[in-house]
Formats: sequence, C-alpha cells, structure tokens
Amino acid sequence: MRITRLTAAAGAFALAMAAAACGGGDDSGSGKASGIVGKASSDKKLVVGVKADQPGLGLQTGGTYTGFDIEIAKIIAKGLGVPETGIEYKTTVSSNREPFIQQGQVDIVVATYTITDDRKKAVNFGGPYYVAGQDLLVPTASTITGPEGLAGKKVCSVSGSTPAKRIQTEYKDAKLQQFDSYSKCVQALSDGSVDAVTTDDIILAGYAAQEQYVGKFKVVGKKFSDEPYGIGLKKTDKEGCEKINEILKTAASDGSYKAAWDTTLGKSGQAAPTLDVTKLTNCS
Ligand code: GLU
Repeated sequence: MRITRLTAAAGAFALAMAAAACGGGDDSGSGKASGIVGKASSDKKLVVGVKADQPGLGLQTGGTYTGFDIEIAKIIAKGLGVPETGIEYKTTVSSNREPFIQQGQVDIVVATYTITDDRKKAVNFGGPYYVAGQDLLVPTASTITGPEGLAGKKVCSVSGSTPAKRIQTEYKDAKLQQFDSYSKCVQALSDGSVDAVTTDDIILAGYAAQEQYVGKFKVVGKKFSDEPYGIGLKKTDKEGCEKINEILKTAASDGSYKAAWDTTLGKSGQAAPTLDVTKLTNCS
C-alpha cells in the first residue's frame, strides 16, 4: 500500500515535470515569449537589478532606492507602461549581474554596468546612457597621480568589475584587493588598509562627497578607460533592447534624461551630460 502510494506520487511528479517542460515556462530561444515588452504590458511589473551602496547612482536607504540609475530605471519602466509602484528593485553586486539576468531573477539591470564585448556574450545591452571612466580614489595627502603610481601599492576594487580586470591585466605590479562592493573598499581606504580604490570616476566622486569622508579623500581625476553604461537584459530579448533604446531616445529629447541627472548626480552642480543617441547599441 505504502509502495503504491509512493509510486503514484512519483508518477504525479513526473507528469507535473513533463507539463512544466511543455508549458513554455521557459524562454530559451524565443525573446518574444518572455521578453520585457510582453511581460511589462501584461503584468505592469518590472524587476530591476540595481546597486545599493553607490551614492548618487544607486543607494538604498531603508526600503527606498535613490540615484541616477534609479531614475533611469523609472524612465525605462514608464516607457514600457509600468507604473513606479510596479517596479521592484533587487540589489545586485558587480559579479552577479549577468547571472541575475540569465536566471531571470531580474528583468533588467541598471547598475553602473559597462557594456563590454565579453558581457555581450551573456546578456544584451540597451544604451549607453552615460559614459564614465576608470579613476582612482586616494587619501588627500597621497602622492599617487595615476594608475602607473600603483606599482607595489594596495589597490581595492570589486570582483567581476571591469576596473578590477583592468588592474589585473594592465597594471600587474599593483597589489589588487577585491571585495564584493565598493563601499567595503572605501571603508578599507578609510582604515588605511589599502592605498587606493579604483572604479568609475562617477562612483568615486559619490563616495568622496559623503559627509563622513569630506576632506579625507580625493579623486585623482585622470580617467584611464571609457565605461559606457548600458541597461542589461536577456541576450535573446532583441525586441526589449530595441524598445529600451527607443525609450532612451525619447528621454534625450523630452527633458526626462536631464531631469534624472539634475535630481541626482547633478545636485553637485555638474551640468547634465548629453545622451548621444547616435551611439546606442544595435541590440544584435
Ligand atoms: N562600470 C564598471 C563595471 O561595470 C565598474 C562599476 C561596477 O562595478 O558596477 O564593471
């Protein structure tokens, strides 16, 4: 009796699995079935991967996220027909952005996410909506004036990021320390356990301006890369990617891109950059 019931249960399980496999729950192969355009219009919801500890860009305070990336996410959501209340923010770190997209834990990623050929093998990118550049954050009294000055010095960056990779490949004499977030690097700089932090200039500027660090650190100001920020989504979702670029084009001309900047990073007085719509990806 017992065996029979177990067998029946196993059979039911197998049937359920088979049904799930045929049910089209998975999206592989067809960007359309599970793409963000279709999902947004049917669910009026969008799950967005963002950073939580990058002031001015993506910062979580209690349950609220603020920053330029968050404003960009709101523009994309609105363009897809998703109200602000339909956006769910999910904290990402640099190293889990591709897996979060691939596994469907997020619909899109807006998280200081540089478009690279390597990453394009795993995900698709709309944008760029901003071009940052790799730079260094050092104590005010430091004599380091650029990446060449890192030889023999301890420099902190984040695993899975383009700046960490660049140090490993182009500045091999630097002693690279990696954490999973830049705020941990900045803490290490504050403790004196590293000599510099490296990532995008715009991220470093946000930390330097934080109340607790004012006067302690300086951004060296000699950028040594281009970091075009894209909006990551499933590799198969060409339609979604094209829609994102269309939304960005509109935002560049209707004032919403400028407003996103002015209400976040622009508060420091820096004028809004131009969103160069001729440089948007081809979504292939
Ligand atoms: N933009 C660079 C990257 O995507 C550095 C910033 C970050 O780690 O989020 O890797």
